Amino acid sequence: MSSMTQNRVIRYRGTELNTKGWQQEAVLRMLMNNLDPDVAEHPEKLVVYGGIGKAARNWEAFDAIVETIKGLEEDETMLVQSGKPVVVFKTHKDAPRVLIANSNIVPAYANWDTFHELDQKGLMMYGQMTAGSWIYIGSQGIVQGTYETFAELAKQHFRGTLKGTITVTAGLGGMGGAQPLAVTMNGGVCIAIDVDETRIDRRIETRYTDVKTHSLDEAIRLAEEAKNEGKALSIGLVGNAANVLPEMIRRNFIPDALTDQTSAHDPLNGYVPSNMSLEEAAIIRESNPGQYVKLSKVSMATHVKAMLEMMRKGAVTFDYGNNIRQVAKDEGVEDAFDFPGFVPAYIRPQFCEGKGPFRWVALSGDPEDIYKTDEAILREFADNEHLCNWIRMAQEKIEFQGLPARICWLGYGERARFGKILNDMVASGELKAPIVIGRDHLDSGSVASPNRETEAMKDGSDVVSDWPLLNAMVNAVGGATWVSLHHGGGVGMGYSQHSGVVIVADGTKEAEARLQRVLTTDPGMGVVRHADAGYELAKKTAREKGIHMPMLER
Ligand code: NAD
Repeated sequence: MSSMTQNRVIRYRGTELNTKGWQQEAVLRMLMNNLDPDVAEHPEKLVVYGGIGKAARNWEAFDAIVETIKGLEEDETMLVQSGKPVVVFKTHKDAPRVLIANSNIVPAYANWDTFHELDQKGLMMYGQMTAGSWIYIGSQGIVQGTYETFAELAKQHFRGTLKGTITVTAGLGGMGGAQPLAVTMNGGVCIAIDVDETRIDRRIETRYTDVKTHSLDEAIRLAEEAKNEGKALSIGLVGNAANVLPEMIRRNFIPDALTDQTSAHDPLNGYVPSNMSLEEAAIIRESNPGQYVKLSKVSMATHVKAMLEMMRKGAVTFDYGNNIRQVAKDEGVEDAFDFPGFVPAYIRPQFCEGKGPFRWVALSGDPEDIYKTDEAILREFADNEHLCNWIRMAQEKIEFQGLPARICWLGYGERARFGKILNDMVASGELKAPIVIGRDHLDSGSVASPNRETEAMKDGSDVVSDWPLLNAMVNAVGGATWVSLHHGGGVGMGYSQHSGVVIVADGTKEAEARLQRVLTTDPGMGVVRHADAGYELAKKTAREKGIHMPMLER
């Protein structure tokens, strides 16, 4: 741990409170967890994941947040503006303890240039999705979503399994690092390229990636051997995707599936231009940011052109939510959107049922608490074979990072039901301490992002961002413990608005009522958003579950 994080980021565990109640304690522990060196990508810079997604604006603001949470009463609410605590208001017990707004810019000005200007003046930070809203749980938080995406791809294109196929991707960062494991969990072979060797090492340490190489020839040889033997294998290849993909084409190597999760949403701090070492990149980023961004965008265009060529030569190709197609298009690659985004291609039907990356964290810090919740899922949702398989596989293959946590995609009805089960387990003493429940902002009813979650909506409402705003408001009214409203997550400034929600199950009756409300309205917004857009599955779900939509035809 660096000296900056050493004294400040504290791993609070156990049942002793450092605050005036479990709701506040949950805020404190989750903020610390976001910056735990086992969880965050660059904790010394307050960067959690996703380019420069931060947990607090600066260390001074971080200290002020911690101090404020420690003194926060159970009928007070702290407001956080782009990573800085700005006020504590007296509210009431059922109100959120924290309200967060991150990186929001008036639409006509909402671009990276304005953001960087504000950032440099110390007026703003980039909150990404779960970085600034304190519910990031490391790569484990995305791994089921990535697994589900590859499973659906396998179903649609490869008879239900990735066995005997090779997937090529790039980016082994906080989120992208889940890709190799998700591919091998589906039985396939993965070559995952990253320009930063330390990222590959980290994925190997945590068993998300199997082997590492600097040689493209070796990567291809290993991949083809494993493919022919029908073995699952993931290979981390040190290199720049904008160099490696054209090189693969030159060697006539075309993978079966192809995607990318470099931090292309952020051309300055996320993507590394081709033919540039990491050291050079760091220097030019500082000395000539304008030139860096230019080179970065040109490389993304080359990268996307290579993806298009591989697609035309047979690779099943999709965009994995980093906005790389948009940058390429702006750089003159007219056909950049010829390959689809992962949401319309593989995920949307799940959103229609209010399903999305639901997660929970054991505040005790004891892995046994999570194993007990796993048992509860296997017992209470025994008829859901897909879900139970996931839980068994997660237990076996996924290492905890920071506070023990679990993720699974639950939908409308299931979330409220499981929330009550968790609260009961806390109340009965079966679990050592309360559980915190949250989700990614990448969820069914919480995000407007026309190149990602709301790409190609049936009614053309891709850019309508009333939905995440309504989502945040209704979750706050329902009594979530903290609610956040962000801009620019996933795909960068100007391209998304989204909201987050976290709620504590502390075993009390009051928490039970809050959980029932929030875990109904939150996935409910997903069903409603998609039913309103005309999706039959969502309309059917709304009718069957008795969701009162005044203008839904009966
Ligand atoms: P990160 O910043 O932690 O990691 C990005 C990685 O890309 C780094 O390891 C970096 O070294 C590597 N990289 C950058 N340029 C490269 C290049 N030219 N060639 C090879 N490697 C390069 O980001 P993350 O949290 O892993 O997120 C990655 C992207 O995926 C972001 O744009 C993010 O918004 C998006 N995302 C997608 C989903 C999803 O479910 N699809 C979810 C969250 C985030």
